[in-house]
Amino acid sequence: MSDPAAINTTLNSPQRQYPLERTRNFGICAHIDAGKTTTTERILFYTGLIHKIGDVDDGNTVTDWMEQEKERGITITSAAVTSFWTQKKDTGLFKNFEGIAHRINIIDTPGHVDFTAEVERSMRVLDGAVAVFCGVAGVQPQSETVWRQATKYKVPRIAFVNKMDRTGANFDNALSDMRKKLGAYAFPIFLNIGAEDKFAGVIDVVNQKAIIWGEGDLTNEGLKYEVTDIPAAHQERAAAALAELIDAVSNKDDAIAELILEEKPISVPVLKAAIRRLTCKIELIPVLCGTAFKKKGVQVLIDAVIDYLPSPLDIPPAQGMVPGTEDTLEVPPNDNSKFCSLAFKLWTDPYAGKLVFFRVYSGQLKKGDSIYNPRTRKRERVSRLMVIQGSERKDVDSVYSGDIAALVGLRNITTGDTLCNEDFDIALEPPTFPEPVISMAIEPKTKADQDKMSQGLQRLAEEDPTFRCFTNEETGQLIIAGMGELHLEIIRDRLKREFSVEADAGAPQIAYRETITKPAEGEGKFIRQSGGRGQYGHAIIDVEPNEKGKGVEIVNKVVGGTIPKEYIPAVMNGIAEAIKSGVYAGFQVIDIKVSVKDGSFHEVDSNELAFKMAGIFALKDAFAQAGPILLEPIMKVEATTPDEYQGDILGDINRRRGMIQGVDGKNGQTVLTAQVPLAEMFGYATAIRSLSKGRASYSMEPLHFEQVPNSVLTTVMDAAKKRPAARS
Ligand code: GDP
Repeated sequence: MSDPAAINTTLNSPQRQYPLERTRNFGICAHIDAGKTTTTERILFYTGLIHKIGDVDDGNTVTDWMEQEKERGITITSAAVTSFWTQKKDTGLFKNFEGIAHRINIIDTPGHVDFTAEVERSMRVLDGAVAVFCGVAGVQPQSETVWRQATKYKVPRIAFVNKMDRTGANFDNALSDMRKKLGAYAFPIFLNIGAEDKFAGVIDVVNQKAIIWGEGDLTNEGLKYEVTDIPAAHQERAAAALAELIDAVSNKDDAIAELILEEKPISVPVLKAAIRRLTCKIELIPVLCGTAFKKKGVQVLIDAVIDYLPSPLDIPPAQGMVPGTEDTLEVPPNDNSKFCSLAFKLWTDPYAGKLVFFRVYSGQLKKGDSIYNPRTRKRERVSRLMVIQGSERKDVDSVYSGDIAALVGLRNITTGDTLCNEDFDIALEPPTFPEPVISMAIEPKTKADQDKMSQGLQRLAEEDPTFRCFTNEETGQLIIAGMGELHLEIIRDRLKREFSVEADAGAPQIAYRETITKPAEGEGKFIRQSGGRGQYGHAIIDVEPNEKGKGVEIVNKVVGGTIPKEYIPAVMNGIAEAIKSGVYAGFQVIDIKVSVKDGSFHEVDSNELAFKMAGIFALKDAFAQAGPILLEPIMKVEATTPDEYQGDILGDINRRRGMIQGVDGKNGQTVLTAQVPLAEMFGYATAIRSLSKGRASYSMEPLHFEQVPNSVLTTVMDAAKKRPAARS
């Protein structure tokens, strides 16, 4: 890290064009509408990948491939786009990197909370992220969610305060919001010069220079800019920001602290190296600003990505498990090690067919090589490798550690699969996904499309782990479940566009869950002796609550062969089946530990089916005694309203069983945050509109599951029984 131009030749293979040190895998994440798509677009423009700058509003941006994304203007599917950036000499700002080319892989993460899975998946393979905030709204609820996700996956970040040109934009407010709401140790490295229609450029705090962009049309080089001395009016602020930055860095970095103690000067490269060290360790968040739309501040943002976000060498190596053991393995990035990669996204491309996006952690892969999937224990030959450069799909012959690319034409791979050398048996930790919160029944408009629809839904479920589809055993209806109404609406849209199936859907239903509150024992017997050969299965189990979010664990603790070994899987299958279809009210059971511990068998009458039934009965028996409860999804809601409607909106949230978490005044507007059960949020868009004469807005996202209170339990249970489609 100390000499950015140095290349570690033992880790880099001689064939690769861009050494690991000069690779940046980063994502752009934010609240919807903060400007991710526009920022990505501008980066691709400035890096020379696209020649005509596209505006989201025109619906022709490069990363939004999917038709309906263009229509909706939101990026639903994270696209991995490769581009290249040579830090410019003429800015005079980044001399230590002068003229060095870097390869950047941008993963455009979706901001809409209905697509949390996409965000989680991409976080797993990012080395760093640019968090884009709206200069007017500051930290919005979904920015908080993606921030938390980035923290969970230990992703170093820089922050970009976008939309500085908009009325109401205020850099200082956005910064203090970041500190207050996100607890971020955030310090400006670029300050704004002016705001709103007077936003002219930025102050480079580290170099104490100003960069002023001109107005007008873009040249092939982008918008014209000038590097100047800091205008007099901004000098004091710029000096204070530098002092604050050095102070912040010295609090966390011994090298800088020492220089200060010894009263030695801190040179620009030394300060930048320290900022980089702290950013890579997630101990500091450098903050920049600009307006992607007006093309100002984008070049310095790309420079900051190179300067401060980690290369694959700067982050801890990926960890994996040796399948079937408790042993962990590290996978340090090295082209000359065994090949190891993670499939993080499946995508059906209209031209190239099924693509598997994967991130290489170590080794290299060439066309014609075989890859091994430890989950399926199968090998597949790689016939085609591809990277996406802008809207172009570009075939490549080989990929190296740290690269993000796509495999073409491989089957039997799902999201989260490790792909590696056959003699390197390892499973990288797959990402974890939240439970669906909403479901609906779906049927094709014409009966003849039934099979086509099932196939389509299955394909879509393979691509998206937060989308599920299954048949309701009682009604025979096909049910789809996901993260929100928009999520399921888009699934239907994709069915129509990609599989030519038009489908009718029922009303959205809440995906309740069941769990238990205390340990209990249960017994299940399935004994039939009505002439001929009988049936005999008998199992005794223990159940106990599992930690929140840990899911279901079923273990075998049978000793002494009281249940013969060959029947134990049947018992476990029975238990798993009962867990899936629910016991208490017919909803899936979560967060439970089950141990099969005892039972008995019959020499002649025992068989798999009998033991499976015994498993089902044992679980039902234990569950009834284990304090079963019903859980409902709780949403985090943020509503912004002019002050005068605050009282009405608060009252309405209270009536919806909401718990108010905060009431903040901001620029004559009140921002209300609350936790409200999803069950009470149907029709909220209309309600808030009529309460505020259309002037309030809101957003919401799933937070967690909570016990359904007794006051509404009967109503929920009755409704659930009447509407079996709700079950998931
Ligand atoms: P995303 O949902 O985060 O991908 O946001 P988009 O990039 O789609 O931008 C949302 C809206 O904000 C679009 O109408 C953009 O034109 C607009 N927008 C994006 N960046 C800026 C900016 O810097 N200034 C202004 N005024 N508008 C912007």
